[in-house]
This record gives sequence, C-alpha cells and structure tokens, in this order.
Amino acid sequence: MSSGASNKFVNKSLDYDVVVIGAGISGLYQLYCLRKAGFRVCVLERGTGVGGTWYWNRYPGARFDSESYSYAYSFSEELLEEWNWSEHFASQPEILRYLEYVASRFSLLKNIRFSCEVTKAHYIDETSHWKLTLSNGSTVTTRVLITALGILSEPTFPDIEGIDSFSGDSFHTALWPKTPVEFKGKNVAVIGTGASGVQTIQEIAATVRHLTVFQRRPNWCAPLNNSPIGLDEMKDIRANYNDMFTLCSKSHGGFIWTLDPRGTFEVNPKERMSFWEDLYASRGMSIWQGNFRDVLSDTNANRALSDFMASKIRQRIRDPEVAELLIPKDHGFGTRRVPLETRYYETYNRPNVDLVDLNRNPIIRISSKGVLTSEKEHKVDMIIYATGFNAITGSFDRIDIRGLSSQALKDKWDSDLETFLAVQVLNFPNLLMINGPQGLGGNHPRNIEYSVEWVTSLLEHMRSENLERVEPSISAVKSWSEHIRAKSESALANNIDSWMTGINTNVPGKDKRVIGFRYGGSVQSYRMLCDSVAEGGYKEMVFS
Ligand SMILES: Cc1cc2nc3c(=O)[nH]c(=O)nc-3n(C[C@H](O)[C@H](O)[C@H](O)COP(=O)(O)OP(=O)(O)OC[C@H]3O[C@@H](n4cnc5c(N)ncnc54)[C@H](O)[C@@H]3O)c2cc1C
Repeated sequence: MSSGASNKFVNKSLDYDVVVIGAGISGLYQLYCLRKAGFRVCVLERGTGVGGTWYWNRYPGARFDSESYSYAYSFSEELLEEWNWSEHFASQPEILRYLEYVASRFSLLKNIRFSCEVTKAHYIDETSHWKLTLSNGSTVTTRVLITALGILSEPTFPDIEGIDSFSGDSFHTALWPKTPVEFKGKNVAVIGTGASGVQTIQEIAATVRHLTVFQRRPNWCAPLNNSPIGLDEMKDIRANYNDMFTLCSKSHGGFIWTLDPRGTFEVNPKERMSFWEDLYASRGMSIWQGNFRDVLSDTNANRALSDFMASKIRQRIRDPEVAELLIPKDHGFGTRRVPLETRYYETYNRPNVDLVDLNRNPIIRISSKGVLTSEKEHKVDMIIYATGFNAITGSFDRIDIRGLSSQALKDKWDSDLETFLAVQVLNFPNLLMINGPQGLGGNHPRNIEYSVEWVTSLLEHMRSENLERVEPSISAVKSWSEHIRAKSESALANNIDSWMTGINTNVPGKDKRVIGFRYGGSVQSYRMLCDSVAEGGYKEMVFS
C-alpha cells in the first residue's frame, strides 16, 4: 500500500509524520533522508544554528580526532566532489562551515526550527502519536519521534562549591561563546584534562600570561600528527573515497584503522617496538584502533603498550615529577577515550605552565579570585571548565520522556539501561534513536549514516504496510541485552570508570558502571544484526 490520505501512518491532523530532535550530523542526515522519502518532517534544535557538537564546542583548539575525510558524510557524490578539507584533522571553524554548507547545499534549513528546546515528549497511546512541549510552552504533535540528541551534548560542571562566586570570566568548553575570547596577558586556570582540556591547554599555553592546569586524573594521550592537505593530496583522497569508506565499514570502530591480526607477544620485542614507533608517528587514532588485536583485551599486552606510552611521556617532559603526574596509573592505554595531542606534553616544559595534582591538593572551592586548593589560592583572571559531559543518557534525562502508562524513560533507564539495537525502547512506541545508548562509538558519522538509513527504511516499511505503531518485542530486547553483554565481556575498558562505562562523578546517580553502555562489538557485527532484522521483515518488532 502506498502513502496517501487513507494511510494509517500519515495522519494529517498531526503536525508532522516525524519530528527529529537535534540538528547535528545525525539530525541533518535524518532530515535529508526522510524528506527525500516524502515524509512530513521537522527538526527541532535548541541552538541557533546547525552543527551540534561543532556548533557548541568552539573552544580554542577544538578539532577532529577522526580524519576529516573519514568523518565527512559519504551519502552524496556531489558533496564529496565539492568539498576540500584543508587539514587531515580540521579545526572546529572549518567543520562548522562544512556542516553549514551541507545544510544550505541540500536546502535543509527550511525544515529546521532553531531555538526550540524540547522539554517534554509524551506518548499518546489512544492515537499512537507523540506530543512534544517546547521550552516556550508551545506543543508539537508527530506520529514518530526520532532523537538525534548526541552522546556528548549535555555539558557537566564539576561539583565544586563557589563556582558562581568567581569574579573573572569563566567558560565551559562545550558552551563556548561565539564572540572571540582574549587570552593575551591573562592568568588562566583549566580544570580537567580529558580530550577537550588537552586541546585547549596545548592551544592557549603560548598566548596566556600564566596557565595553571588542575588535573584529577591523567589520560593517555597519543600524537595527532596533523598536517595540511594540499590540492594534489585532496585529489588523491577524493579518488580514493570509495575504498576508504569500505575500509571504515570493515574496521572495528568505523575508522580507517583496523586492528592488526597479530597478538602483541607473537612478534619479537624488536619488531614490536618498531611497530609501536611507527604507530606513534602515524596519524590520529592509529595507535589506539590499529594496534595488535589484543592490546585492548589482554592485560599483559595492554601493560606492555602502556609502558611504551609511558616511556614516551618521560622522554618528552623535562621534569620527571611532572612526567609521573601525567602518566596514568589507574588504567591502561586505550581503556578510556584517548585524547589526541599536538605538543601537549611539551606544554608542561614551558615556564608559564603549572600542573596541580588534585589528588594531592584537592580543590576546596572556587573563590571570587580563583581556585582555592588545600595548598593555596591560585588567583586567576579566567577559569575554563573542561569537565566534559553527562554522556550518552544525559541529553535524554533533561527531557521528560514518557511512554506507555506515563512511564518516565529516565526512571526506566535508571533501574535498567535497556534498548533494542540502540534504536528502540520497550514500552516507548514510535520512539526511534540515532546514536542512542548501547550504540556504536568510534568514528560516529559512519555509524550515524547507517542508522539513519536503517530507521528511514523502517518508517517506509510502516507507511507502505499501513502501520501506525512500532515497538520492539520483549524477546527481542532480551536477546539484544544478552548480545550486548557478550560483546562487552572481553574489553578491558569495561573494568574502568569512564564516561564510556556510564560514570560521571559530577552527576548524581552516575556512580555505577553499566555494562554495555556502548556497543562493544564491531561495525560489521552491528550491521549484520540490523540488516538481518530488516531483511527478515522486522519480525522482532510489534506493529499495529
Ligand atoms: C569536542 C568533541 C570532539 C569530538 N570529536 C569527534 C571526532 O573527532 N570523531 C568522532 O567520530 N566523534 C567526535 N565527537 C563525537 C561527536 O559528538 C559526534 O561525532 C557527532 O558530532 C554526533 O552528532 P549528533 O548529531 O549525533 O549529536 P550532536 O552533534 O551532539 O547534536 C545533538 C544536537 O541535539 C540538540 N539537542 C539536544 N537536546 C535537545 C533538546 N532537548 N531540544 C532541542 N535540541 C536538543 C543539541 O543542541 C545538538 O545540536 C566529538 C565530540 C566532542 C564533544
């Protein structure tokens, strides 16, 4: 059956067939696909422009950790033909320009409503639709709700007394102002040494008068090895796009790097060192995603690699005490998100940079003049909070999402984080998620494009089969949960506190590790499962 006035899916008394929340990489492509398929669709975005992550994170030094060309959209040959990247790892302004170009190139803006924060989403069972409430009090109705909220889009501040009492300027990296911030001559504090902190610290150190870095927990950083892309090189990249995207789809995490089939101790020590030296000199995620197959699952292999990385840090930092502070002792390399750096470690050789170890000297509070630790008051003109996100579920928690019998999604997930394919949730009919909890991490756009197309096909199926409601079956959710657990078992990362295992000490309740907070399997194993569900006619779902 085709779409039309009598089609159950299409109810013209509802405002839309589909509402998508979020205008980042996910939301923009979801809009493109749904519109092309003839759905009445609207994107609601709380920012004033497109770009999501790249709209909000304007902090100095913000840039890709994925290669620009492997991160970009692959769906349009024309777009691939038209866009030139200037660096292997583009900076935030260039990425935002790219996403703005995409939005205007495909006339997406006319279907996006900006400055629209969704605060409530309630499922109306009698009529199988969602009713959304926006922060201005207005409401929107839709048959299907798609969340494209982002896994890292809900910034968190540290739980420190006195944050509001500081009299200087203070910023969170993910809420950076659109207007330029002056660093020259300023004494600056950076709190946090995760990926955003590392990028900020290495970028501003040479400009500020004095920089004090407050570190609670060091991360293993690897060299980015960025370089410009000339026009000839861009030509070669362009000629290779098809092969590159195929490579990404065959890798574990959607990157151009795949694990080496050899085990760490299957090669002799000389060969091992030479392999690691090569990876250390290669671009981007190579040393994390392109290493021996067992470095992220075998404790001894991981320890050997961590020792290698520690030796590099010791070589690069003059003061041995500072070097020891920057070497993680509580987790092995790659078991938390690896920040990629450009002369980050050398930053600590500068006379105008100090590192404060918060384990030795914890912050007591933020004062009007700066940061008071147990040792002393660090007087500064500016505080930068590089303290990350309430990851993965944080952007869902902010919205009052209610499914059947008014059950709150937050309550459900607080007691048991459960989905089906990271796309659906039991008892939340017609709610579909792009990059939801239990989804693939890695090089996100590769996985986002796949999920968006999968979700679009599901909705086309509903419309063509004259269906108005979909949710996963109980047995499908159960077997997916078992699959998630099985795929998580071997990863060392699951035994470590990090945002990837659901820990954030600045968020009440996020103090217990969640197995399968992210999908532990490969891109291929995820796609095989999703493909089999679609090819089998969506038997795992209950339709009406
Ligand atoms: C600093 C930084 C660097 C990163 N670097 C990389 C990288 O190199 N490679 C990589 O693969 N990934 C990277 N990531 C992950 C990145 O988030 C994804 O690559 C990708 O941008 C996610 O796109 P998205 O559209 O799913 O989510 P987002 O880009 O986060 O977009 C979500 C959108 O939803 C909107 N939104 C949320 N809640 C609401 C609401 N209630 N109402 C209305 N709108 C709402 C937000 O405003 C936002 O615009 C990085 C993340 C960060 C923070």
